[in-house]
Amino acid sequence: MNFLEEKVNALKEAGIYRELPINDTPIDAIIELNGKKVINLCSNNYLGFANHKRLIEASKKALDQYGVGAGAVRTIVGNMRIHEALEETIAKFKKEEAALVYQSGFLCNLGVIQAVTTEKDLILSDELNHASIIDGVKLSKADKAVYKHSNMADLERLLIEKRSQYEQVLIITDGVFSMDGDLAKLPEIVKLAKQYNALTYVDDAHGSGVLGEHGRGTVDHFHLHGQVDFIIGTLSKAIGVVGGYVCGSKAMKSYLLHRSRPHLFSTSMQPSAAAAIIEAFHMLESSDEYTLKLWDNARYLKSKLQQLGFDIGHSETPITPIMIGDEVKTMAFSKQLLDNGVYVSGIIFPTVSKGKGRIRVMVSALHDKDILDRAVDIIEKTAKSMHIL
Ligand code: PMP
Repeated sequence: MNFLEEKVNALKEAGIYRELPINDTPIDAIIELNGKKVINLCSNNYLGFANHKRLIEASKKALDQYGVGAGAVRTIVGNMRIHEALEETIAKFKKEEAALVYQSGFLCNLGVIQAVTTEKDLILSDELNHASIIDGVKLSKADKAVYKHSNMADLERLLIEKRSQYEQVLIITDGVFSMDGDLAKLPEIVKLAKQYNALTYVDDAHGSGVLGEHGRGTVDHFHLHGQVDFIIGTLSKAIGVVGGYVCGSKAMKSYLLHRSRPHLFSTSMQPSAAAAIIEAFHMLESSDEYTLKLWDNARYLKSKLQQLGFDIGHSETPITPIMIGDEVKTMAFSKQLLDNGVYVSGIIFPTVSKGKGRIRVMVSALHDKDILDRAVDIIEKTAKSMHIL
């Protein structure tokens, strides 16, 4: 295993090796990392559902009813009534014909992209799409081309050049770009797709629970119901549990259940997780309380960071990057912040391109103004001490 040791040493020498802190507490505004209390500003638990009483109760009830495991893949015996109920709940919430759940959002992108494309097709993918899309595209037999980030002229150029050579063309984009927080130009993408007879695929991992009426997501935000062919979501961020899903037609669901490899070869979701997720969607449907609090906190935090002079990019969502640039400096800053009591993620290559290192600050509905003030104060002092500000 010497070759791997050498690779690890190279990461250490480059100053980008991560010592993973250990968390002993549920995901909250303040957590205990390596035995020390820190302000948590790096989880995707947007609405605070990961440790919500109602989800825990629903999950416990399902544990008693169904046990801890689903027993097999979906296509054998792992198709419990609670999985079907979950999918009905999601489809209704997202105002789509059908939904199909996967064991994670990552797996969902791998499983769907591969299954719905063939060697006669072309995939057009935004250059900043999430890693799971990139890997899903790699698994597909279709030809691939990447268009410049949210650049509609570049997308149209590819459509003009290539459309006629393929049976189907699938345009894939994140709904909210996870490292910058900007929104896809979905109305324009849908228009181009119609004009050139292409299919559309939106990964709304960071839009669901955050954007649109009751947090229905980016498609709802842009009033595009019924006009996007595949809508992907994760159940691990705003929903607070684990899993992923795709929404679309009933035929899509039936086909994917037969041909999407995670459904054929990987055990289905724990029933207790499914029960917690159903409860989360009920909570979203019945109240905007959590989503409003999230946005309120996000606006507050962003304005404070901006007033201090930080470059926070062009996010249109609660995702708040603090742009640093240099990778070593980025990692040193995040490490120092953690030592000083604020846990944020340092994001560097390969998650973002080289030279685009940043701190990603993730606010949630769990924070309050007092905690955010404390965090901003520590961020300011730390940045000044490191000549970042
Ligand atoms: N898509 C996007 C855009 C994401 O940000 C993520 C999570 N990092 C995923 C998919 C994967 O979701 P999950 O954590 O449920 O596997």
